[in-house]
Amino acid sequence: MAIIDIKVPDIGDFAEVAIIEVLVQPGDTIKAEQSLITVESDKASMEIPSSHAGVVKELKVKLGDKIAEGSVVLTLEVQGAGAAAPAAAPAPAALVAAVAEKKSAPAPAPQAQAAINPVASSFAGTADLECDVLVLGGGPGGYSAAFRAADLGLKVVIVERYATLGGVCLNVGCIPSKALLHVAAVMDEVSHMADLGVDFGAPAVNIDKLRGHKEKVIGKLTGGLAAMAKMRKVTTVRGYGAFVGANHLEVEETTGTGQEKTGTKKVIAFKKAIIAAGSQAVRLPFMPDDPRVVDSTGALALKEVPKRMLILGGGIIGLEMGTVYSTLGARLDVVEMMDGLMQGADRDLVKIWQKMNAKRFDNIMLKTKTVGAKATPEGIEVTFAAAEEGGTAPAPQTYDLVLQAVGRTPNGKKIAAEKAGVAVTDRGFINVDIQMRTNVPHIFAIGDIVGQPMLAHKAVHEAHVAAEVIAGELQGNKELAAAAFNARVIPSVAYTDPEVAWVGLTEDQAKAQGIKVKKGLFPWTASGRAIANGRDEGVTKLLFDDSPEAHGHGKILGGGMVGTHAGDMIGEIALAIEMGADAVDIGKTIHPHPTLGESIGMAAEIAHGSCTDVPPQKK
Ligand code: FAD
Repeated sequence: MAIIDIKVPDIGDFAEVAIIEVLVQPGDTIKAEQSLITVESDKASMEIPSSHAGVVKELKVKLGDKIAEGSVVLTLEVQGAGAAAPAAAPAPAALVAAVAEKKSAPAPAPQAQAAINPVASSFAGTADLECDVLVLGGGPGGYSAAFRAADLGLKVVIVERYATLGGVCLNVGCIPSKALLHVAAVMDEVSHMADLGVDFGAPAVNIDKLRGHKEKVIGKLTGGLAAMAKMRKVTTVRGYGAFVGANHLEVEETTGTGQEKTGTKKVIAFKKAIIAAGSQAVRLPFMPDDPRVVDSTGALALKEVPKRMLILGGGIIGLEMGTVYSTLGARLDVVEMMDGLMQGADRDLVKIWQKMNAKRFDNIMLKTKTVGAKATPEGIEVTFAAAEEGGTAPAPQTYDLVLQAVGRTPNGKKIAAEKAGVAVTDRGFINVDIQMRTNVPHIFAIGDIVGQPMLAHKAVHEAHVAAEVIAGELQGNKELAAAAFNARVIPSVAYTDPEVAWVGLTEDQAKAQGIKVKKGLFPWTASGRAIANGRDEGVTKLLFDDSPEAHGHGKILGGGMVGTHAGDMIGEIALAIEMGADAVDIGKTIHPHPTLGESIGMAAEIAHGSCTDVPPQKK
């Protein structure tokens, strides 16, 4: 027996990366290559594996710590000769890739956690259905892959356990949340109108009608998907799919509005498969099973408006749902383990959002953990602890509704992937290459199940890559077969009020990584349109490469906005990054006046020194 230090391996020339998750604790028995912590940098999150097997003695890091190559993560009790010379764990591939191209802020790569390749089972039975491509899961990833493959001439079967296509995004995610957020934004806007001379009085909310509106929106979109699947001759099989071999999937039929199994099974034989089984909300183990404790799906059901609501987790999903409930009348508390809300966005942008939203909250509890909860007749009594040593724990509170929004976990362990020989990490992710191929060459995976960021637009782009590679391989089309996921950036948006949107390198990341940038920051107090709208709290920020090699003509590396409709405008900044635009390219692009989008051109002019809509800039 010996005690060794497990250190952070080579992570390229990143000065620091932040720990966003600690996956083990003292006393845990761990395997070599098992993930110890998740770190985040350059918009990629990845797991740092252990170099040895053993028992964790002491954790040397905690959530929120910044670490670098060589930092000790933990001490491990190990057996045998291997203990004598502790080696660094293998470098996480995603992080190394991000380092290699950090100036162009590449899109996050799939999860880097190692996974053992299982041996596929052999299936000797007969198939009820045969196809070129089997797609498991009908979310944005799954239906996009199926439709693209069908458009490329392939025979496609899509397996989905629920009654409608659309997955989390259309049924219980992006779309219903935005339907409700739109209503909340109109209500907030109308309440401001009194200051402008038009008083509509207090709103009368009919919650049943509002819920009905949301359902109608979902129905319209999912109905559209069903029609498009039919037009493309994509066969949809309703049921719960699990692999039974490397080329066979068994589907147990489901019925009703949920996933009640009927007992009827069928087997589908495929040449190639795309796994798009998505993710589900994380549920904290100590939370009571009580209708007053919900995840985002429960919150979207909009049963009633609570008086006091706790949002567990200060990320985008929690804050979006909080916005809806608070506009409808709930008072909010939020508890977050990190030192700020909406992690990932620049702090100066979040500060503006927080100032505008302070009135919604009774308590914003940062650096705080939720450690217990019990159901009482008065409500859910929740207890807290300081996330850091020496911190103060807030007093227990009782809530009418608790929303768990602490993250989402992939469904990789629920599809018998091992029977197809597909490796799944300890946490349920499936590793893929840039063509979205798993360790089994004819099986691909896309969307939330392959890693962060868990966003619908990432899933759709990955879906197209997988479908094109498959079509190329089956049809001998070299151009299609060479398709790859090589997006430089993936935008993020919080559809709160105001919206916060960012893409590429953030200013906080540039600082942490020592990347020299020139900033163009345009305050919306100088935007005619924002002032006319009575919403001039926003800012638009662009960051350009200011390294000596850029010779004063650096390309755009990132940008962020806070303000109304920021989410609708961030795509222009993403396009500028993909096209390698500099400040002159963006500033000389004529933006229509008066628009909020003009603020992007003006931020570029500020970086360039040619903006005439702000006071003269210092030379
Ligand atoms: P999913 O949408 O999870 O789809 C997977 C599908 O596979 C599901 O339909 C599931 O039923 C099915 N499935 C799983 N296992 C099986 C099985 N064994 N057999 C048969 N079927 C199976 N993203 C954005 O980009 N913008 C947003 O504004 C946004 N808002 C969100 C708001 C909320 C409240 C939530 C929860 C998420 C939001 N997201 C948003 C994230 C987005 O919904 C996901 O990133 C996206 O849905 C992932 O797509 P996917 O195809 O990978 O998986």
